Amino acid sequence: MTTYAHCQRCGRWFKTGIRFATAEAFENSKIKATSRACPFCKKVTPIEKQYLRFDEIRIDGRITHTEGKYFP
Ligand SMILES: [Zn+2]
Repeated sequence: MTTYAHCQRCGRWFKTGIRFATAEAFENSKIKATSRACPFCKKVTPIEKQYLRFDEIRIDGRITHTEGKYFP
């Protein structure tokens, strides 16, 4: 499933295209800090793990959200 980034300008979530197989893979990953233009407000926002969310659709149809945590 894919990850969503939280725009630090307008506060909306957008798809990053950064994909992980499982929530555990997302939690254990090190995502290189970068930045990207938000598709809603067109402002550049940082793409860092603490601003990301991973969505997983489980077999029973429920969607779980995993928040990114900051590891300095
Ligand atoms: Zn935005």
